[in-house]
Amino acid sequence: MTLQSRRSKRQFARGGLSRQKAPRIQSALAGAGENLDLDWLESAPRDEAMDFLTGLPGVGRKTAACVQVFTWDRPEIPVDVHVYRIGGRLGLFRPNANFDEAHDELLRLVDPGDSYEFHMNLIRHGRELCRPRPDCNACGLNRMCPFGRAVISGEPVRERPSRPDR
Ligand code: SF4
Repeated sequence: MTLQSRRSKRQFARGGLSRQKAPRIQSALAGAGENLDLDWLESAPRDEAMDFLTGLPGVGRKTAACVQVFTWDRPEIPVDVHVYRIGGRLGLFRPNANFDEAHDELLRLVDPGDSYEFHMNLIRHGRELCRPRPDCNACGLNRMCPFGRAVISGEPVRERPSRPDR
């Protein structure tokens, strides 16, 4: 076992994720049936692959989008709490959009060839600057960000809390 995988395993266990995720993985495998060869999904039409994946127990749209983009390099933008938070602050979708609507809107806005990079950059931005308490003064996007402009000018800001996603 490598140092990285030992560390990941510890983080996974410490976050309580192992208890939550293990049964989900087991039920997803059971839901996939006896034929676990999922290679056909790579060349299946996008909607067909999404329908199959989201039909598995415990698999939501974010997870299905992660499988599509990270396994097969297909244009997808998984909407996790970082992507949802930043997209909402930048006004890329309407304020009360749910995660599915945000997903549809981002796919519509972003060139398919840029979707992987867009997703990865938003995750990174959400971890480094656009955290729940954002550092808007240090952010290169602040001139085009309605939320950031309000924060910098001291206006009261309200945000819809992000729902847990899967
Ligand atoms: S200006 Fe602030 S709220 Fe807007 S993207 Fe940057 S850090 Fe996030």
